[in-house]
Amino acid sequence: MLMPLLPASKGLKSALVSVLRRTPQRTGGHRMITDEPTAETWQRDLADAVRSPEELLALLKLTPDQVPPLTDRRNPAFPLRVPRSFLRRMTIGNPQDPLLLQVLPLAAEQNDVPGFTADPVGDRAAEKTAGLLRKYPGRVLIIAAGSCAVHCRYCFRREFPYDTGRRSPDHWDRIFREVAGDPSVSEVIFSGGDPLMLPDERLSALVEQASAIAHVERVRIHTRLPVVLPSRVTERLLTILHECRVQVVMVVHANHAQEIQADCRDALSRLVRSGLPVLNQAVLLRQINDTVESQCALSRALINVGVIPYYLHRLDRVQGAAHFEVDDETGRRLIRLMQDRLPGYAVPRYVCDVPGRFGKTVLGPA
Ligand SMILES: *Cc1c(COP(=O)(O)O)cnc(C)c1O
Ligand code: SF4
Repeated sequence: MLMPLLPASKGLKSALVSVLRRTPQRTGGHRMITDEPTAETWQRDLADAVRSPEELLALLKLTPDQVPPLTDRRNPAFPLRVPRSFLRRMTIGNPQDPLLLQVLPLAAEQNDVPGFTADPVGDRAAEKTAGLLRKYPGRVLIIAAGSCAVHCRYCFRREFPYDTGRRSPDHWDRIFREVAGDPSVSEVIFSGGDPLMLPDERLSALVEQASAIAHVERVRIHTRLPVVLPSRVTERLLTILHECRVQVVMVVHANHAQEIQADCRDALSRLVRSGLPVLNQAVLLRQINDTVESQCALSRALINVGVIPYYLHRLDRVQGAAHFEVDDETGRRLIRLMQDRLPGYAVPRYVCDVPGRFGKTVLGPA
């Protein structure tokens, strides 16, 4: 069959190029590979994550006796998971590496500590409709995905029953009907799990559905993927976020300056330069980021790529995370010292989430 001749050969060429980019072709026995990140790249990176503590330690040239005892009770719902990009930012041979300590499942997780429970922030009580949390006036939080690229051992949702009732076909209809029926909701927050774990088509559909509601003025995305799986920040993702009818705000999650390097720095910078407001939330974690030096370095690293430090969270008292806790007095002191050393916009708000209370409680700066 003859191809119709296109008047502009440039049009044909770019059409061909875009087809070739989307469909890897076998040419002469090897795959054509383009250097643009594609959806396949991040999904491959995700599948390629390290899943065993033994492999993680071996790659860092550490022996088990150099780190605290690891858990012997494998938690099937929350096993070790570390993308290789995040691993590359750890220091080989350092058992105290602040990135390693965030992901290593220790035996200490099995300790039953009074006050540490499965649902420390009252999320289950706030979830009247499955997948929709309403604890804050004007804002709703939607659990958009049930999984994450990395498993942070201190995570307050580590015990959250993501799967209950989420498979029903009218799940999303019910959620968006409720948002549409309440004119007081001006902001829809997609959280999880990690909403950027969704494939582009799903994410795009959700963002579109939320922004189609007349009284929704903003869509917010809470995600750790630009930090732990930077290849997720593709051109297509930026297009989806910028094509939205309303303003999109992104809140990322980095806890230590050492995370803001290499491909992560590049991904954050691309988000910021694309014009999105990007904020960071961190969690105050014992022996990971509980010194003024470490907090100031984190703020500087963020600000230097254009990301604004938003919240420093006091640890939520979730079962299995007691060994990460830092006392409030230390937290408040850190914030005061940061105020002396940094511009005001580089000092995050130190906050905690009290079950049953509206909004976050600010512990500092005063
Ligand atoms: C933290 C949180 C929000 C958003 O709070 P902001 O102070 O606006 O960042 C909304 N919903 C839930 C359930 C939250 O935990
Ligand atoms: S990325 Fe966020 S939601 Fe996922 S495990 Fe880490 S802290 Fe929890």
